[in-house]
Amino acid sequence: MAGKILAANWKMNTIPADGVALVSEILNQWPDNHRAHTIICPPFTHLAFIAELLKNKPSFSLGAQNCHHEKKGAFTGGISVDMLKDLGVEYVIIGHSERRHIFHESEKDITSKVQRVIQAGMHVIFCCGELLKYRKQGLETSIVESQLKSSLGALSDTEMKQVTIAYEPVWAIGTGETASPQQAQNMHKTIRHWISKQWNNDIADKCSILYGGSVKPGNAKALFMQTDVNGGLIGGASLNAQDFKAIYHAMI
Ligand code: PEP
Repeated sequence: MAGKILAANWKMNTIPADGVALVSEILNQWPDNHRAHTIICPPFTHLAFIAELLKNKPSFSLGAQNCHHEKKGAFTGGISVDMLKDLGVEYVIIGHSERRHIFHESEKDITSKVQRVIQAGMHVIFCCGELLKYRKQGLETSIVESQLKSSLGALSDTEMKQVTIAYEPVWAIGTGETASPQQAQNMHKTIRHWISKQWNNDIADKCSILYGGSVKPGNAKALFMQTDVNGGLIGGASLNAQDFKAIYHAMI
């Protein structure tokens, strides 16, 4: 059975002091259980501070929002996976729609990043999702399957176990518009089926598939009740400790 995961993607928000205060507030009164895992993905500048707060919190992990695909070298401004790992980062978000569409990351860049993170022994949160124009044409399944195939298709069984998938329809990210629970379930089921064909049933059953796209306290429960929705990747609502906690409670 796939583990339940709630991941916070803070994007380019907060300064480190605000981030520390936010994590402290999240940790305060967070239910002490191991039924679900929480991953905090702050900006790079916050990682060292937040790593301190998450020490000895086994149900929490530190995540990064991006990394460079090369191991090291003359890449001004780049952040390598070794740098992240050294700070205690265990998960890296790869393929987020903002990286694909605003930063124009290609499938090739995304695939290289996936491989780099896996080789470092870390976990990938692999984002996939279709633009509204493709959903309107009924092409959402083929778009998502082609993103999965292109960046994950060559992974071995062992490597695939280091991957968590986040289905994030682009039209639902930061827009206030959410996929309906049925739309989310249909796509998550398709993704799990694709994994079982590509690898096997065991890997598919154990792969956590998160939904992302305007998840809020008010819509979280209906989404998380779906059989193949194993949690969420939360953007805007993860910047408010009370909302993030409410979403967590809707999941467990
Ligand atoms: C995201 O950034 O991955 C995301 C899902 O954002 P939001 O929750 O704000 O739509």
